[in-house]
Amino acid sequence: MEVSMSRKDILFLALSITLVMFVAGVSGYKYWTLFQAHTETKAELLSVKNEYSATVQQLHSTIAELGERLATTTIERNTLEEALRGEQVRINAVQMQLDMVTGTIGTLAKLNSTDKELLQKYSRVYFLNEHFEPKSLSLIPVDYVFQPEKDKMILGSVLSFLFDMLRDANADGINLRVLSAYRSFGEQSSLKSAYKITYGAGMSNKFSADQGYSEHQLGTTVDFTTEELGDNYDNFEQDKAYLWLTEHACQYGFVLSYPKDNAYYVFEPWHWRFVGLNLAHRLETAGQYFYDMEQRDIDQYLVSLFDN
Ligand SMILES: [Zn+2]
Repeated sequence: MEVSMSRKDILFLALSITLVMFVAGVSGYKYWTLFQAHTETKAELLSVKNEYSATVQQLHSTIAELGERLATTTIERNTLEEALRGEQVRINAVQMQLDMVTGTIGTLAKLNSTDKELLQKYSRVYFLNEHFEPKSLSLIPVDYVFQPEKDKMILGSVLSFLFDMLRDANADGINLRVLSAYRSFGEQSSLKSAYKITYGAGMSNKFSADQGYSEHQLGTTVDFTTEELGDNYDNFEQDKAYLWLTEHACQYGFVLSYPKDNAYYVFEPWHWRFVGLNLAHRLETAGQYFYDMEQRDIDQYLVSLFDN
């Protein structure tokens, strides 16, 4: 079979080929251009990415460095804090020692300024020295004194305790009065002589023995009466004033020296001695009397004798 192509056909074929080639060329170019652009963008993005990576890496290393520095600073701060605490502990220890020394000095000063005779038990073998004189005497307010025309004195440090007791007793309707307080050795001797004349030597020794009345020489001891009883105080034991004192005197540091049936001296319900709040409270709590206690136990209360 013969294939014959007309000129027309050849022309058409040639045109078609040309068209296809043209389209292919244009497409190729376009693709190449796009490829080129893409490659450029990709390269650009890569470089940006690398740049960021570097920055991030740098930041990481900066953070690590800062962390290290912070750790070092923290260690340094902890060390400083520890050193500071150590210093504080040392300062506190020194302060404590200083306080202890100050306290000891204070205690010694208090003990030095307090006559140990003020808490001494007096007996037939232990007398108060006849030359003993209280450090400073104060006048008892005349409102609370029986026979106020005669001055009544008490140790200065005891006055406020005595005054409070007298004021409170009177507020409770007890007309408590001071009949006798401080008596010097000289006054004591003449009083004893007077008793001797009145009662005879045997009776006065029992009634007015040295150890008993020497408590008045201390300046801390008071004989009480009431406005109503006056110097007729023989019945003081039956008076409500005595009951009030047995219930309240210890709150002001006073105790009964010679209670009923004691082994040392005749019963003197009117005769009260200041021994300080602490000792008076202890005696009250224990149901004990001053002369029943051991002297070495009593002595422990000397340092707080005038404490409130
Ligand atoms: Zn007395």
